[in-house]
Amino acid sequence: MAEVSKVSIDAGECISCEACVDACADVFEMGKDAAVVKAGADIKANSDGIVTAAEACPTSAIKYE
Ligand code: SF4
Repeated sequence: MAEVSKVSIDAGECISCEACVDACADVFEMGKDAAVVKAGADIKANSDGIVTAAEACPTSAIKYE
């Protein structure tokens, strides 16, 4: 099982397709021009959802470690 400690979105690569929100709404939400990581999101507890969202992102805009 993956354990994610950090996640970010490269706004310049995001095309606002909302796939990450569909995959893991606990962590991702749509901002004005791009998806954003929700303030206070529990990154570690949502590790699997973050990996799924990153894989679903058509532009590889989601970076995690
Ligand atoms: S899946 Fe990728 S391109 Fe789509 S809204 Fe999320 S970060 Fe943006």
